[in-house]
This record gives sequence, structure tokens and C-alpha cells, in this order.
Amino acid sequence: MFVGHYAAAIAAKTAAPRAPLWSYALACQALDLGWGALVPLGVEKVRIDPGLQGSTLDLYFMPFTHSLPAALIWSAAGVGLARAARLPWSASLMLGAVVFSHWGLDLLVHRPDLELGFAPGKAGLGLWNLPVVEMTLEIGLLAVTGALWAARRTRHARSAWPAAAFLAFLVALQIVVQFVGPAPSATPLEIGLPALVVYLIVGFMAWLADRGPKAVEA
Ligand SMILES: [Zn+2]
Repeated sequence: MFVGHYAAAIAAKTAAPRAPLWSYALACQALDLGWGALVPLGVEKVRIDPGLQGSTLDLYFMPFTHSLPAALIWSAAGVGLARAARLPWSASLMLGAVVFSHWGLDLLVHRPDLELGFAPGKAGLGLWNLPVVEMTLEIGLLAVTGALWAARRTRHARSAWPAAAFLAFLVALQIVVQFVGPAPSATPLEIGLPALVVYLIVGFMAWLADRGPKAVEA
């Protein structure tokens, strides 16, 4: 799951618009932002298996970002950060939910590589092994939430085109990433760093899409 995670950010922006879209965009990838930092440091481990479908990443050790207990802690930290930034409880709790949505959506697509903490073994329903189904899910989630978001913007006398542009950017990004996967010989730095850069660029694009005199709605 890559751009599909942003469906959670867009849905959150539609339901609880007091938080800026960029904060939701970073929140929905917070676990992967942590992963992108910890992999180059050697704290979490990944290797490339060119034989794998959908994603060639063999994510065999990531307890600090993608275990269920870790996801809950990251989500609670998201709520705490939002409250520290003086966001209202509704938007703060939504931000925490968006952080946690990453784990829920990863559970659908990952092969079993997500530790549960309360039980042995790892979870993952493995939709990555069905690339067409997985891609349809990601783009479908974006399309549905994007349409709701655009409709909300127009109801509040805001243009729908920044929403459309942001969605088009995400779809284009997905297509690029599809064809430019990591090389089989990629080092942890070469895997983690591009992920960090891409997530920060999307955060910036979300900030752009959200700008304007009525960026913070009541
Ligand atoms: Zn992830």
C-alpha cells in the first residue's frame, strides 16, 4: 500500500477539517516515515526479493514501526502532538486514527510481516500477491474519498481543482513508483531515504492543495 494510505488523510480532512491536510498526509505515513529513518540506521531490516509480486520488499524485521503495539503507540503520540499544537480534540483524535489507519491498510496488503504483539507469528492478508486487485483497491479508495473531499470543498465555496490536482499527483506518483522499484542490490539507505523524500514531498503537495484564505474551516 502506497498512495492508498492517503485516502485516510483525505477522508479525515473531509470529516474533521480543522487539522491541515499536510498533517493528515504525514500522519497517514507516519509509520513508514519512521521505517524510512530506521532502515538506513540498521534498526529495522528489509531485503529485496525480486521474485515477490506487487512489492519486492521482504519486510522481515520492523517491530518499532509496524507491530500492532508500536502502531498504537505512534497513534497515541499523534494525538499528543496534535493537542500540543492546540488542535481541537476532534481533529486530534482524527489525526491519531489516521496514524493507525496505516497499520490497518498495511494489514490488507502486506504478506505476513506485521507483528501482533499479543500472539506469536505475524499478520498480513497478502493482497500484494494479487497486484491488480491491490492496485484497484488503492486507486478506488483514493477516488471515493477524493470525490467526497472535492464535494465538501465546493459546498464551502472552495474550488475543487486543488483536490483534483492533488489526486492526479498521487495517481501519477503511484504509476512512477510502480515502474521504478528499488534495484535488487539496493542498500538500506537507498531503500529508506527515497521513501522519506517522497513522503515529505507529498506532505508539501498536500500543504499546497490546502492553501488559501479559507484553509482552516470551522
Ligand atoms: Zn507501512
